[in-house]
Amino acid sequence: MQRRTKIIATLGPATDDPIMLDKIIEEGVDVVRINFSHGTAEEHMDRAEKVRNRARAHGRQIGVLADLQGPKIRIEKFKNGKVDLKEGDTFILDINHPADAGDEHRVSTSYKALADDVSRGDTLMLDDGRLVLWVDKVQGSEVICRVLVGGILSDRKGINRQGGGLSAPALTEKDRADIKTAAEMEADYLAVSFPRTADDIHEARALLQAAGGKGGIIAKIERAEAIEVADEIIEASDAIMVARGDLGVEIGDAALPPVQKHLIQRARSLNRVVITATQMMESMIENQIPTRAEVFDVANAVLDGTDAVMLSAETAAGKYPDKAIAAMDRVCIEAEKQNVAKRSDHRINTVFAHIDEAIAMAAMYSANHLQVKAIASLTESGSTALWMSRISSGIPIYAMTRHVGTRRKVTLYRGVYPVSFDSTMTADHALLNREAIDELRRRGAVRDGDLVIITKGDLMGINGGTNAMKIVKVGELVESATFCES
Ligand code: PGA
Ligand code: MN
Repeated sequence: MQRRTKIIATLGPATDDPIMLDKIIEEGVDVVRINFSHGTAEEHMDRAEKVRNRARAHGRQIGVLADLQGPKIRIEKFKNGKVDLKEGDTFILDINHPADAGDEHRVSTSYKALADDVSRGDTLMLDDGRLVLWVDKVQGSEVICRVLVGGILSDRKGINRQGGGLSAPALTEKDRADIKTAAEMEADYLAVSFPRTADDIHEARALLQAAGGKGGIIAKIERAEAIEVADEIIEASDAIMVARGDLGVEIGDAALPPVQKHLIQRARSLNRVVITATQMMESMIENQIPTRAEVFDVANAVLDGTDAVMLSAETAAGKYPDKAIAAMDRVCIEAEKQNVAKRSDHRINTVFAHIDEAIAMAAMYSANHLQVKAIASLTESGSTALWMSRISSGIPIYAMTRHVGTRRKVTLYRGVYPVSFDSTMTADHALLNREAIDELRRRGAVRDGDLVIITKGDLMGINGGTNAMKIVKVGELVESATFCES
C-alpha cells in the first residue's frame, strides 16, 4: 500500500552525510525542511541543491520547505556557556548586559522590548518550558525574576511568555534577507514563524513574490493570539503548521490536543494543507525505535486528517534519521487503513465557487462510491488535486502536470502523487486519456479492468480550466482517436 500522509524531514548535520541523505530518500521522505534558524545562506542553498540532485538520481520528486527563524526571543550567552539555576534564585534578564557575559545572576536577551512587554506576575518559560521564571519586578531595562523551576540553562535558549502576547513583529530583518535566499533556491514553500495575523502572511507573500519566489506560504501556528484569528490566517496561507513546540509553551501542553484537532479540521475545510510538527518521534534522536506514545501521536495525527507529519531534531541532529522516517512510514500506513481515515463529510453544506472545484468534488463522490482504483487529475496549478485531497478517501490522486513547480508543491498534499505529464501534447481528448492511463499503467498504479477517473479541461494548459470528468475502464477506452474525428 502506498502511504498517503506525507513525511517532512528537517535537514541538518545528521543528513549532511551523503549516505544518510540517500537513505532518507529511500525511506520515502516527501519534503525536506531547511531551518533558517541555524546556518548560513550558502549552507541552505547547498542543502537544497544536494537534495534535489539526489532526488533526481532516485527518480523522486521532493519538495523544499524553507523555514524562517522569525522573532524567536532568546537569551544571549553565558561566560561559561551555561548556568545552573536553582528554585528560589533571583535571575535578571537585562538587555543592557553584555551579550556574552551572562552568569547565574543575569543574562542579556535578543529582544529589546522585553522589559516593555512583561510585567509583575508574568510567567516566562525558557528552553521550551524546561525552566520557569516568575516576573517579580520590572525596573528600567531589568526584568527581575524568581526561578520557579530551575535547571541547566545554556546559551541562546528561547523565551516564551505563558499566554502569549509578546509584541515582536513576525518578520525580522534577518527573515527579510532570508526570504531572498528562499526565492533564490526556488523553495516550494516558505514557512513564516510566529505570525500574529493574516497581514503577516500577506507581507511574507509579497516579499517572496517581489524576490521572484513562487513557493506557497505556510503559517506556523505557534502563538496564543494566532489561534483566535486562525481562520483568517489559514485563508491567507497555502498551508499551516501546527507548531506544537512553541505553541505548547504559550498555551500549555494540555491545551495542544484539542487545538491540533481544531486547526486540522479548519485547514481542511478551508481547502488548505496542514502539517503536524514537533516532537513526533523525539525519543528517536537517541533510540532506534519510537516509544508507544510516539507511535500513537503519529497515528492520531493521521486520523485527525493531517496532510503531513514532520520530523525536526530526529532527522536534523539525531542518530537515526532513516529509522525515524521508516517508523513514521509504517505508522502512517497502518493508521490510514482505519475507516475513519477514509471517510469525509467535507463541504456537505457549502456552495462551490469554481467549476473546477465542483468537478473535483463530483470526482471524489464518484470515486468513493464506484471504488475506482485511481484518479488522474490533468492539472496546471494542482488546485483540482488539492480540492480532491481535502476529501478523505483511500484512493490515490495522481496530479499529472507538465510543471515541475506543481509537481513539487503537491508533494505536501495527502494522497496526491506527482506525475510528469504534458496534457498539452495533443488536442485529441481520446488520445490524451489513453496517454494518461498508459502512464499510470507503466507506474503499476492501474491494471486492465480497473476503473479510473480522469479530470481535465476542454482547453488544456489553462489554470482553473478543469471542467470535465471521465470515468474509464483500463483496457477498454471506448472512444478511440478515429471515432472522435468522425
Ligand atoms: P520550530 O517550529 O521548530 O522552528 O521552533 C516548530 C514548533 O515550534 O513546533
Ligand atoms: Mn517554533
